[in-house]
Amino acid sequence: MSINIKVITADNSGPTTNNGTNTYVIGDQELIIIDPGPRSESHFSNIRKYINNRPVKMILITHHHLDHIGLLADLCNLTDAKIYLDKIQLKKLLEVYPNIKNHTKILNKSIIFANIIIEPIYSPGHASDHFCFRIPGEVIFTGDHIMGWSTTMIRKPDGDMGQYIQSLNKISEYSKEIFLPGHGNKIVDGHKRCKELIDHRNKRSNQILQILEEKDLDAHDITKIIYKKISKKLITYAELTVEASLDEMINRKLIKRKSVDNKYIYSIRT
Ligand SMILES: [Zn+2]
Repeated sequence: MSINIKVITADNSGPTTNNGTNTYVIGDQELIIIDPGPRSESHFSNIRKYINNRPVKMILITHHHLDHIGLLADLCNLTDAKIYLDKIQLKKLLEVYPNIKNHTKILNKSIIFANIIIEPIYSPGHASDHFCFRIPGEVIFTGDHIMGWSTTMIRKPDGDMGQYIQSLNKISEYSKEIFLPGHGNKIVDGHKRCKELIDHRNKRSNQILQILEEKDLDAHDITKIIYKKISKKLITYAELTVEASLDEMINRKLIKRKSVDNKYIYSIRT
């Protein structure tokens, strides 16, 4: 690869973050940073060492989750870099950092930086403000939208399963580029990975239909049937993803829900 891309992985490993969040630094003389990562002293120190006083021209973020933007304000103060982002991202970012507007610039279509073209691709689903960034013919930074080590969590209300599936179909059109995710290793065959993830979602919808054919249930009981071996730490996240699947299936008119004793009970739509 002719473009210099360095990955610096933060020390926030865990059940939802794999080895930790990946921060990517692009360039040689002048730099672009994608996803500053979590607010960790050691991660900040590793980024600072790698930058080594070189000018950082631009910071891009894939989405507003704190394991990706915790260091954003510190990095802006260190480097004077501007955060280039879409209006949707700016709105979310100001919820997290109300005073950061002076450090931002609105991103319009592609960025050209030191002869490198970077195309933002809107990819909502995991988060409503999620973007992937593509360097044509080289790589796509896929954030939390597509990861090799795990499926993506879709947590309501900001997550949306229908949008996530649409965004998977959108990114799967790019088969030439290597995918560089927000957590875990690079994905060489991105097209295949997108197909696996779409197949996984279809399998999950079919499984929910089978479960509901037996009995009408709430999201919690459906989750317990699907994720028999899941740890207690992850069951809440799993339930939110199941709820997102149920919403998407309601939109497709496969199932319906009714409110009984303050909880939603789901059933097959006949
Ligand atoms: Zn995330």
